[in-house]
This record gives sequence, C-alpha cells and structure tokens, in this order.
Amino acid sequence: MRITRITMWGLDLPLKRPYSLSGGRLHFERLDSTILRLDTDEGLVGWGEGCPWGSTYLPAFAGGIRAGVAELAPTVLGLDPRRTDVVYRAMDLALPGHGYVKSAVDMACWDLAAQAAGLPLCDLLGGRTDGSVRLHSSIPSGTPDELLAEIDLARAEGYTFHSAKIGADVEADVERMRILDAAMVPGEELTFDVNRSWTPAEAISVLNATREILRVVEQPCETYGQHLAVRSAVGQPLAIDESLVTVDDMIRAVGDRACEVVGLKIGRVGGITPARRIRDVAAAAGIRMNIEDTGGTALSASAAVHLAQATPEPLRRATWLCFDHLTDNPVEGGVANDGGTATAPDSPGIGAVPDQAALGQSLAIFEADR
Ligand code: MG
Repeated sequence: MRITRITMWGLDLPLKRPYSLSGGRLHFERLDSTILRLDTDEGLVGWGEGCPWGSTYLPAFAGGIRAGVAELAPTVLGLDPRRTDVVYRAMDLALPGHGYVKSAVDMACWDLAAQAAGLPLCDLLGGRTDGSVRLHSSIPSGTPDELLAEIDLARAEGYTFHSAKIGADVEADVERMRILDAAMVPGEELTFDVNRSWTPAEAISVLNATREILRVVEQPCETYGQHLAVRSAVGQPLAIDESLVTVDDMIRAVGDRACEVVGLKIGRVGGITPARRIRDVAAAAGIRMNIEDTGGTALSASAAVHLAQATPEPLRRATWLCFDHLTDNPVEGGVANDGGTATAPDSPGIGAVPDQAALGQSLAIFEADR
C-alpha cells in the first residue's frame, strides 16, 4: 500500500463558552484545527487531525502544522502507511523535532493501518481492555463561584472527574482549592491544574498551606527544573503535563521520580507512535496517565480514546473530549460522552470520519509524482 495523496483543510472550531486558564492569562474563544486526508493506491482513506489549543498554550500553532505538512509531504508520499515506525523515522529525518506537526500525519497512518488490518485501532495498540474510559471535565479558571458553576454544568453532562484550572496568587488559590475540595461528592475525583502559572515559591506556599488536600496537582510551574524544586518541598501527588514532550522527557521523569501522573497528549508528544512508547514507559513505572489530545473534533478524541482503551486500569486515569466544548463537531462516528465515560469505536481504524462537506475548500493537495 502506498500513500498517493494528502489533502489538508483548516477547520474553525468556535467554543460554546469562552475558556480561560489561570485567571485569564490564556483566553480562548475558538480553535483552529488542521484535518488531513491520506489517500492510498488501494482505495483506503485515512484521517488525521492536529489542533494545538490555540497558539498561546504550547510551542505549537495551526500555521506551523500547515507549513510542516507541506515540508513533509514529499517524504510521506509513496510510503506504506501501515509501517508506522518507518513513516515516523522518515519524517524525523526530513524534519527533526516539530512533533506536533507530525501528529496528524501519524494519526492518519494509524487509521489506515488499522483499517487495513480490519481492526479497531485499540487492537493495534495493545488490545481493547474491559470497560469504558472515564472522562474528566476541563473547568476554566475563575472565581470559586464560577468554578463551581462550571462543575455543575459538567455534572449535568455526566462528568464525575473534574480538572479545575487554577493558578493565580497564593491566597486566591488556597481559597479555591479548599472550596472545590469541599464541594466534591463521594465518587467524584478532582485535579488542580495550574497550567504552569506558579513560580516555585508560590507553588511551595500554596501546597504547604493545603497539605491536608491530597489531590493531584498538575504542572505547577513553567519548567521541569522548577517542577523538581517544588517536588522536593511538597507532599501532594504531582502531575506533569506541558513539560512532557518527548519519550526522553518521560524516561527522565521516571528516573527523577518526578510525578505520579502524566498528561499524555497525543498532539504535543508528536502522535500515536511516540505516545505509545511514552505510555509503555509510564506504565512500566506505575505512573497513571490522562490520555487525550490537545484539542480538536471527535476525530482526534477518538484516536486518543483508542490508546486509552488499550491501556489497562488503573494506569489509564481519564481522557478528555475537547469537542464537548465546541459548538460544532463535524465528524461522523467516533467517541461520545456516555454518562462521563467513552468507549473506543468497534469499526476498523479510528472509526471517526470528518464530514467533508463541512470541511469546505481544502487548503492544499499534495500528490505523488507519477
Ligand atoms: Mg493540564
């Protein structure tokens, strides 16, 4: 099988409600996603998506994906998409780094590989495990009342696991953590996600003032070095999210005993191929994982749920459906929020196909030389 054509679309995704991290430091009203369709000489079609949650959240942006795909297209055309490691090594040789650019291409290759095998993607990633994958909500930052109101909206949609975005001044965060912790009912789980907005001094002050609240605190500071400084001074379980970008980052975190949880976001780490390796390293160390993507429609969310579905509990902690935040989700099939859980589709491949009519005019088409 050979990849014969790559078609690329930009997809504007308005959010139902504006979304802020850490007191409005990062504010979002819409997302800009890139959708790829890979055609093959055997008639199979694979789909991939890259959506880095705006331009300000990570060192990644929609225009970077589009320029990067144009750079990679001559390398990818003609390759066998079922050989996912071979394709990935070719992309690494053609363009070192830029993992977030490669994720959409890699996702489409995995979609094709699983379709060619006649299996749902999870069965190529270790095999479908029992049960469904728990979802966590994503609660934008705000006052305690605003956070509680958003948690109530999430509860109404079935969510029993909440990732509340905090990270402002010490006093406000201590108050927010105490109020949110007390508001949880039995069976509910809560993570405090700081999205790297504390200095180490602030993190140590807040976490020592709330040491009786033993909930996971995620990405307290900007850098991994700052994270380690906090780690040695607090008792709460910690999660690393934005600082996990490469397989090497995961290996280092295991060696440093840096965390109990990681956010494994497929787009940020460069696709399913590296995410699978990171998953296996984390699993071997007993580190629990939130397995999800950085943003996008039910296409990228379904790909992430396949990886989560192939990861046994309790190592798979939760996943996140970005598209629950969107006004539109122009995808047929794929995962859905089923009372706060999701299950990987049964059909071959990822099992989620963008509605091509909703995608409109493509931005670019790359074809192999004949
Ligand atoms: Mg996070």
